[in-house]
Amino acid sequence: MKQGTYYQPEIEGVGRKALRELQNERLRWQIRRCLTKSEFYQEKFRKAGIKASHIKTVEDLVHVPVVTKQELREEQVKHHPFGRYTVAPEREWRELDPSTGTTGTPVNTIWSAKDIEHITEVTARTMWSFGVRPGDIIQNGFSYGLWVAGMSTHYAAGHLGCFVIPIGASMTARQIDYLINPGSTVLLCTPSFALHIAENLRERGISPRGLSLRRGCFGGEGGTETKATREKIEDGLGIDAYDYYGLAEIGPTFASECTEKAGLHWAEDHFLIEVIHPETLERCAEGEMGVLVITHLTREATPMIRYWTNDYARLETAKCPCGRTHARSVGGILGRADDMVIYRGAKFYPVQVEKVVRSYRELGDEFLVELTKDEKTYADVCTVVCECRSPEMDKSLLEQHLRKDLREELLVTPEIRIEDFGTLERTTFKAKRIQDKRPKA
Ligand SMILES: [Zn+2]
Repeated sequence: MKQGTYYQPEIEGVGRKALRELQNERLRWQIRRCLTKSEFYQEKFRKAGIKASHIKTVEDLVHVPVVTKQELREEQVKHHPFGRYTVAPEREWRELDPSTGTTGTPVNTIWSAKDIEHITEVTARTMWSFGVRPGDIIQNGFSYGLWVAGMSTHYAAGHLGCFVIPIGASMTARQIDYLINPGSTVLLCTPSFALHIAENLRERGISPRGLSLRRGCFGGEGGTETKATREKIEDGLGIDAYDYYGLAEIGPTFASECTEKAGLHWAEDHFLIEVIHPETLERCAEGEMGVLVITHLTREATPMIRYWTNDYARLETAKCPCGRTHARSVGGILGRADDMVIYRGAKFYPVQVEKVVRSYRELGDEFLVELTKDEKTYADVCTVVCECRSPEMDKSLLEQHLRKDLREELLVTPEIRIEDFGTLERTTFKAKRIQDKRPKA
């Protein structure tokens, strides 16, 4: 592979067989140390009747029970504050990076010095793959604080020789000021914040064509790979937009699209990616949708073995047109199990609503899926709430079209409420698309 096109050509273009051997070797190392040093894993393996000697290859891992976020929360309560899955000794701890707490009590994750080094290396690799080069001005709109993505991208930007603006996920007006001067060339933030910045640019009458911004990578929520959302971000900011993925328990920014926009590339030398059928718990066939289950192959401080992410995706191992050999998830994250709406027997995800809503030029980018109870029948009512850009628009006609398109996409017909533009809350962090207003049983 050509030096310059790739950040780490030897590993990014490694043959699948050699990659699998490297994974097997690293997996044995990880299992050995977890079963020597962590009571959490010792207990788990003992209950399942599995010894370290049983796990020789990636194939053997299917017998190991998964780790869920709920399990980590309970472990932290019982063995306060870090649980017994912290494998590195305390003197090697360097950073505490908990999950955001968007789905409950935050789970504590610790990084050792070596972990920070690996996280920086993998993040730099992802940034290089979507076109970041030394000299770029990176406007880092990922939240710093306790959100892991801010730190990892900051470290990687420095590592790549870029000039970084650590603005974080706030101050929309200043975001725009920095896009103008010094003229950031790369924007990192959530897709909903990117759309919000684009909306503000439009309101201020600033043409994105006059800006130096040329690319952006958007994570923390799905959506960037939804055709309509990607087009809105790209047109609104005058850039190429790429998808980013990570999660606190596993790694902040370890999968992204390359410039081919052909799905999320996984860093398979550091992470073992499985796609598991949610009911049979067996591995899905290539291209089949299931839940992502991830194992740390190199993580020192709080390693996860078969972490159940709750995120749905597909996996493909065919070589990408970019030449990289690591597996990809085409279409990105296809939904979060936590966000699944069950309505009149149909199951759907907010990302499917997004696909429809954002395909309408007449509608704003914001939307909500509201769940309520009918006062008389006590049946669930699901309402898609969105905004109409123009007050003169015939809302009933728009509603008719929207109802038909939503029914086709969701296989069920939700109620629709079209509000005036600007009614729904704008967010700089992760957008919450479901509002459950049903009385608690
Ligand atoms: Zn690629």
